[in-house]
Amino acid sequence: LSSSNGANGAAVLAQKALDAIAQAITIDDHDLFITSSLGVTLFPVDASSPDQLIKNADLALYRAKAEGGHRFQFFLEQMNAEVLQKKSLERELRRAIERAELSLVFQPQFSIGGGRPVGAEALVRWQHPERGPIPPKAFIPVAESTGLIRPLGRWVLEEACRAIRRGLDAGQELAVGVNLSAAQLRHGDFAASLRELIAESGIPPDLLEIEITESLLFEPSNDAIAEMLRRIAHLGVRLAVDDFGTGYSSLAYLKRFPVHKIKIDQSFVRDIGRDTDDDMIVTAMVNLAHSLGKRVIAEGVETERQLQFLRELGCDEVQGYVLARPMPEAALRELVARH
Ligand code: C2E
Ligand code: CA
Ligand code: CA
Repeated sequence: LSSSNGANGAAVLAQKALDAIAQAITIDDHDLFITSSLGVTLFPVDASSPDQLIKNADLALYRAKAEGGHRFQFFLEQMNAEVLQKKSLERELRRAIERAELSLVFQPQFSIGGGRPVGAEALVRWQHPERGPIPPKAFIPVAESTGLIRPLGRWVLEEACRAIRRGLDAGQELAVGVNLSAAQLRHGDFAASLRELIAESGIPPDLLEIEITESLLFEPSNDAIAEMLRRIAHLGVRLAVDDFGTGYSSLAYLKRFPVHKIKIDQSFVRDIGRDTDDDMIVTAMVNLAHSLGKRVIAEGVETERQLQFLRELGCDEVQGYVLARPMPEAALRELVARH
C-alpha cells in the first residue's frame, strides 16, 4: 500500500480492504465468508527499493497470518533480525543432528494406584556447544517450518526404539512415548518406515507410543491423516492424544480414531483445587475417556493435592514434577530398578 497520509492513512485503508473482503458473498443461497490478511510497509520509511518493499510487506503478511489472520500488520525492523536469527538457528540445527548434539531425556509416567513407573515420555534436548542448552520450544517450531523436523523426528524415533530395546535387555519392560509432528505424518510412507524401524530394533510394537496433538487429530476432513493413524495402530503401536482439551475436543473424532490413551493437558491440571471449572472439566474428561474405553494420563502434575484429586477420580496414570522430572536414560533405569 502506498499512502500519502503516512502510517495512519495506511492503517485506515488496510482496515477498509479487510472489511470489504469480509462481506459475505451469496452463491446459490449459501453465504460464503472470506477472510484475508494484510502486510503493510511504508515508503520511504521502511525501504526505498521495490524489491525490499515487497519483502517487507511479505514478512508483515506472514506475521498477520501467524497471529490468526483477518488482520493487518505493519512491517517492523525487528522482523528482519528475526528472519536472520531463524536462518542461523536452522543452519545450526542441521549441524546439530549430524554432530550428535541432540539427546533424549525420559520423564517417567506412573500408574496412579501402585505408584509404579509404567512408561516414560521421550523429550528431545539440544546442547549447543556455545549457546548451551536450547529448549525444544525454541527449536521444534523452526524444525517444523523448515522440514528439518523429518530427520530430527526420525532420529528421536530411532533413539527411543533403541532405549526400549536396552530396557528390555536390562529386564525392564517400559513403554516409551514419542512426540510426533504433523509434518512427519504427511511426508512419505510414515507407517512403512515405522514398521521397518520396529522390526530392526526388535521391540514389541505396543511398547512404542506415538503422541499426537489433538489439533492434528481434529483437522477437518483430513482423511490421509486418519488413514495413516489407522495403519500405525494396525502395526500394534499405541496412539496417545497429547494436550487433550486445548483443541477442538470432539467425542465423534475420539471414537473415529484408534486412540489408546488421552493426555490431559497441564493447563487443566494446574488449577485443580483452585478453579472449580477446571475440577469439573478434568472430571468430565476422565469419565468421557473411560466410557470410550481409553486410558487417561494427567500431565504436569506438580502437587500432592493434584495427585490426590486425580487418584480419587480414577485417572489411570500421572506424569509431572511432583513424581519425577525428565531425566537421562541411566537415571530412568535406576528409578525403575528401585521400584
Ligand atoms: P509436551 O509434549 O507437552 O511435553 C511436556 C512438557 O512439559 C515437557 O517440556 C516437560 O518437561 C514439561 N513438564 C513435565 N512435567 C511438568 C510439570 O509437572 N510441570 C511443568 N510446568 N512442566 C512439566 P519440554 O521437554 O520442554 O518439551 C516441550 C515441548 O516440546 C513438548 O511438549 C513437545 O511439544 C515438544 N517436544 C519435545 N520433544 C519433542 C520431540 O522429540 N519431537 C517433537 N515433535 N516435539 C517435541
Ligand atoms: Ca507430549
Ligand atoms: Ca503435552
